[in-house]
Amino acid sequence: MNGLFIISLDFELNWGVFDSMSVKEYNENLKNVPQVIKRLLDLGEEYNINYTFATVGMLFNQNKEELLNSLPQIKPEYINEKFNPYRIIENVGDSEEEDKIHYAKSLIEQIKEYPNHEIASHTFSHFYCKELGQNVRSFEDDLKSFSNVANKNNVKLNSIVFPKNQINESYLSLCKKYGITSYRGTENSFLYKPKAQGETALSTRFLRFLDSYVNISGSNIYKPKDLNKGEIINIPSSRFLRPFNKKLHFLENYKIRRITNGIKKAAETNSIYHLWWHPHNFGKNLEENFKNLEKIFMVYNEVNKNNNYSSVTMSKAHDLIKKK
Ligand SMILES: [Zn+2]
Repeated sequence: MNGLFIISLDFELNWGVFDSMSVKEYNENLKNVPQVIKRLLDLGEEYNINYTFATVGMLFNQNKEELLNSLPQIKPEYINEKFNPYRIIENVGDSEEEDKIHYAKSLIEQIKEYPNHEIASHTFSHFYCKELGQNVRSFEDDLKSFSNVANKNNVKLNSIVFPKNQINESYLSLCKKYGITSYRGTENSFLYKPKAQGETALSTRFLRFLDSYVNISGSNIYKPKDLNKGEIINIPSSRFLRPFNKKLHFLENYKIRRITNGIKKAAETNSIYHLWWHPHNFGKNLEENFKNLEKIFMVYNEVNKNNNYSSVTMSKAHDLIKKK
């Protein structure tokens, strides 16, 4: 089996950032997401890239009525009320036309026009599986709500990306019950161990930051045969693509080279490289971010020709791995 290049995009708009940043401070990033999606799709066409859009379920709704009707019966009761997305619903606009940071049905329809990409789950409500106050019942109801909106939109959910990478191993069998066959795990390094928010030490966060530019945790690539082929497969991340950093612009080349070196190595050793980020990361410094992405795609193009290394969705990767 040849190596695989996987890109998963955590598509969440404000549902993924409402608890850490105000709309005002992050507005530019959020409001440019439609443009980012359009450019991602165009560039994907040009370089034959197949993305996995891990989408927040609430974004599938078109208006407030649909949104309210789609909500789960049992909601997570996070001890830290800040994490509760349901508390902001009363301030959400009436429709996508008025409120493009809480609804994205038209963007999802745009993605669906390209059947080579996958629409996956980022949970219905940006559910935090390791926070105190949520439990297996609220998680199952979240899965149910997503399953209903997905059915209504003729989307079959095969893969999941857990918000903030909070992977709760005891929830995986429940995911399987709802048709999910793979998830994105974290890098196999102590730096990326899944934890509740606030539990990752500052020193670890700093090392993660450094790791984006210099080699600390290795390339985080892996051979398909080494993956756990349980009923739901872990397809771990290799790297988060950090957005363009204006202050550290002189380090951008190191960051990109760290990624392209990993991709080349994956192609040469028939391994998997799994890159991820959020579309809103590209909303600011759009040109610089897309320039970086194109550099990555150009290297992919080269190794695709020379090593038969191919870009696939998580779902396709699952099928290939399972067959072996
Ligand atoms: Zn997220």
